[in-house]
Amino acid sequence: MVVLERGWLSSNTIVLLGPDPVVIDTGHHSHAEQLRALLEHLLGEQHPQQLLNTHLHSDHCGGNAHLQAYWAQLHTQIPHRVFETTKKWNPDRLPFESTGQYCPRFEAHAALRGGQEIVLNGRTWEIHACAGHDADGVLFFAPRERILLSADALWENGFGVLFDALESELGFDAQEQTLDLIDSLNARWVLPGHGRAFQAVKPSIAQARSRLAHWRDHPQSHAEHAAHVLIKFHVMALQSIPWGDFMHWAEQVSLLQRIHDKDTRGLRFVAWLQERLDVLCSKKALQMTPAGVADA
Ligand SMILES: [Zn+2]
Repeated sequence: MVVLERGWLSSNTIVLLGPDPVVIDTGHHSHAEQLRALLEHLLGEQHPQQLLNTHLHSDHCGGNAHLQAYWAQLHTQIPHRVFETTKKWNPDRLPFESTGQYCPRFEAHAALRGGQEIVLNGRTWEIHACAGHDADGVLFFAPRERILLSADALWENGFGVLFDALESELGFDAQEQTLDLIDSLNARWVLPGHGRAFQAVKPSIAQARSRLAHWRDHPQSHAEHAAHVLIKFHVMALQSIPWGDFMHWAEQVSLLQRIHDKDTRGLRFVAWLQERLDVLCSKKALQMTPAGVADA
C-alpha cells in the first residue's frame, strides 16, 4: 500500500499494490497528468485495474476522467448514493457547480455501499457510510490490519468543512457519529485524504471532537470558514483572478449565496464577500493585487 501524499488542491491518492493494482481517489483535475506519471512510475509494467472514490469532491475525483481515458480497463466504483447521479452526470445534483468547482465528467461502473465488504488484492476492506463532511461519502477499513482510509472525515489535525452542517445543524451530529464510528474501529493506522498517514489516532479524534464542539457552538464561524475554504480553493486553482471574473464566479456559487443568506447582519453580498477577502488577506491566505485576487 502506498500513500501518494499531495499538496493542497489535490487529495492524497492511495494505491493498493498487488496483482490488480487499485487506485483510491485521484486528486484535482489540474494535477491529473502528474498523478498518472506517479502511478506509471510506481507500477512499472502493471496498469491500475480498479479506481475507487471515497467521495465526490473535485479534489478527490478530479483525476478520474484522465485516468479512465488513459487506462480504458479501469473499473470505477463510487459511493452508491451518488452512483445514479454520476452515471447521468446531473450537474444540479453533483457537488461541483454549487461549490464553484470543476470536475471533468467520468464514468462510474459500480456502487460502494456502507455495510458491504470488498476484497482487494487479498485484503478485506469494510465499507462504512459516513456523513458530516459529505453526506454521500464512505470510509474504507481493513479490520485485520486495522488500517482506516478516513478521507476528509478525520485528518491528523482536524477534518474537512462540514458541508452537511451548512444545510442543517444535524450535520454537526452527523460528524459526531462519524467520529464515534472511527473511534469504535480502533484503527492502528489512519491514511487520511490530506496530510501524512498517522498512528496517534486517539489524540486526533480528541482534537477533532473539540473542534467539532467549537463549530457546533459557533455555526456562523463554521459557515464563514466554509466560505473561506471555497474562495481559497478557487483562487489556488487559478493562482490569480481579475476582480470582475472573481465576482462573476462568486455570484454563481449557490453555496456561497446560501452562506451569505444565513448571515443575519444584513450585509449586501458584495460587502460580505469583501469581508471574507479581508479575513483571508489578514491570514495571508490570499492577496489583493491592483488587478484582482491572487494566491499568497
Ligand atoms: Zn472532501
